[in-house]
Amino acid sequence: MKTAVITGGAGFIGSHLCDFFLGRDIRVICVDNLITGSMENLKHITNKNFDFIKQDITKHMEVKGPVDYVLDFACPASPIDYNMFPIQTAKVGSLGTHNCLGLALAKKARVLVASTSEVYGDPAVHPQTESYWGNVNPIGPRSCYDEAKRFSEAITMAYHRAHKVDTKIVRIFNTYGERMRINDGRVVPNFIYQALNGQDITVYGDGKQTRSFCYVSDLVRGIYALLLSDYNLPVNLGNPDERTIIEFAKEIIKTTGAKSKIVYKPLPADDPRQRKPDITLAKKLLKWNPEVELKTGLARTIRYFQSKQ
Ligand code: UDP
Repeated sequence: MKTAVITGGAGFIGSHLCDFFLGRDIRVICVDNLITGSMENLKHITNKNFDFIKQDITKHMEVKGPVDYVLDFACPASPIDYNMFPIQTAKVGSLGTHNCLGLALAKKARVLVASTSEVYGDPAVHPQTESYWGNVNPIGPRSCYDEAKRFSEAITMAYHRAHKVDTKIVRIFNTYGERMRINDGRVVPNFIYQALNGQDITVYGDGKQTRSFCYVSDLVRGIYALLLSDYNLPVNLGNPDERTIIEFAKEIIKTTGAKSKIVYKPLPADDPRQRKPDITLAKKLLKWNPEVELKTGLARTIRYFQSKQ
């Protein structure tokens, strides 16, 4: 039986990865310090092949026994969260990733590091291809996240080149689904919460900025395919179904049947104007394609948030 260490395994994407790996008879050691993750996301797991270690991965990590895969998913991931924990965010992407790579080297394990579309910053190339180097403000409010993830990629490639560690890098575009935190401040939970509670929908800026939303099960499938591939350079995973934030607000109002009005609030600093993944590489390399349409994924996510009200 193979063993995977999943850091950030109590978080939104991490907990779905735990389920996916356990479902494939892979033992899971979940590591999380629970600053933004929650045991609530894991409480359904009864599988005996699951272990939880409460630990900050920026500190030295001891894992007993053989490890085949290390998945580095520990990181505050919403602009609100990384503004609340800017130093932890910068450290987890640098020291935390370094520790994951060290663990993989010691265990002769394959490692997959979660990077982000934020490495492209406010992109001047659209849609974003892996060959684009990005347009990131190195000192802005998002830089603790963006630059830490850029460093994660750099040190991952350094471990690959210097130590021949079998590394993978996934650049994750906006992802949504069950187990997002209702108060994480991102657009999906904010709009759904507002719609379900009859509040105004808060669109930041003029709402013409775009995002492309991928349902979590599609993403997790792609991550697993990338882990098993023999490709070591970064790969975009996301759904290229691009919408303006206004269109997105309308879709949520329609799906929930809410009577909410749209109101406008100031645009946060350095908020990217457009974002859409070019997934040509993932399609070719991994034979992967997102399958869940926004309408379907949103309906599931809305049901989840309703059950949590
Ligand atoms: N946004 C919004 N209203 C909200 C929350 C977010 O209009 O209540 C906008 C935000 O300014 C951004 C987009 O929605 O343009 C996506 O924001 P999110 O925080 O989900 O993630 P990002 O893609 O910016 O990391």
